[in-house]
Amino acid sequence: MSKPQVGVSACLLGHAVRFNGDHKRQPWITDILGKHAKLVPFCPEVSLGLGVPRPTLRLNQGRLVQPSTKLDLSEKATSCFIKLAQTAAGLDGFILKKDSPSCGLERVKDYSAKGIPNKTGQGFFAKAMCESYPLLPMIEEGRLMDSEQRENFLNQIFAYSRLRALTPEAPLRIKLSAIQDLHKKHKLILMEHSPRHYSRLGRIVANPEGLSVREVLEKYSVLFMEALAVMPTAKTRTNVLEHAMGYLRGKADETDRKQLRESIKEYLKGELPFIAPLTLANHLIQKFEIAYLQEQLFFAPYPRALGAHIRL
Ligand code: SF4
Repeated sequence: MSKPQVGVSACLLGHAVRFNGDHKRQPWITDILGKHAKLVPFCPEVSLGLGVPRPTLRLNQGRLVQPSTKLDLSEKATSCFIKLAQTAAGLDGFILKKDSPSCGLERVKDYSAKGIPNKTGQGFFAKAMCESYPLLPMIEEGRLMDSEQRENFLNQIFAYSRLRALTPEAPLRIKLSAIQDLHKKHKLILMEHSPRHYSRLGRIVANPEGLSVREVLEKYSVLFMEALAVMPTAKTRTNVLEHAMGYLRGKADETDRKQLRESIKEYLKGELPFIAPLTLANHLIQKFEIAYLQEQLFFAPYPRALGAHIRL
């Protein structure tokens, strides 16, 4: 599988493009994620021709303004950012700089007529991205500090990349069996996120209404990404591991199975991190060559070097 492509607010990659000529390099993005994904820089304000350094922008009653010059850049920025978003068509995810009136995804300060900031705004470029790519996984760099949200984002971008790989240059040649195969390999991941979505997705790929493959893929893609946006819980993860344990019956001996059972219980009680039963289960699956589980992406949703640091 080729590396996923992730768009990133350029200042987070160390590009000195902020209003004051500075940057906000995030080492995890550049040094760790950058080894496993192709990072594509975007600086909407530079694309708008504002230069570096430049007077600051801010949201004012939903408008994008430059307070020092009193310029209202809303229309110009909207049209420029829509065009810029069009160049992001091949991406599998996007990391946006928080709090920015251009890049901020949520809770950006929007000033009232009386100059009171309300954290209710969204950056103009982030808005253009959300409207252009409603399924694209997007996150602000601040949320990547949270290990669970970071892991979920990784899960989403690698899954989205696999989903997009189903529709290469010749969309009419997609086979229903390819979507069914993707669904099969993501079964445990989907159950980890949302068993309800997993059942609904199963009905879509069974295609009882005889829809065209293209229609099936469209319906499937929306629900698939919606499922992955649901955060897993200790309970859903425990259910998945117990489900996997069923396949070890008759293969692994009682000592191995007991050790895994105990590890799952301790994880559920919060006494062990998720990586403990996951690693043990993975070891047994490889040792006894349980083919069905070996192909489940739940056990390797993205390169191990990324997960080893953060899957808690
Ligand atoms: S516009 Fe976005 S990428 Fe450019 S400096 Fe501001 S936050 Fe960073």
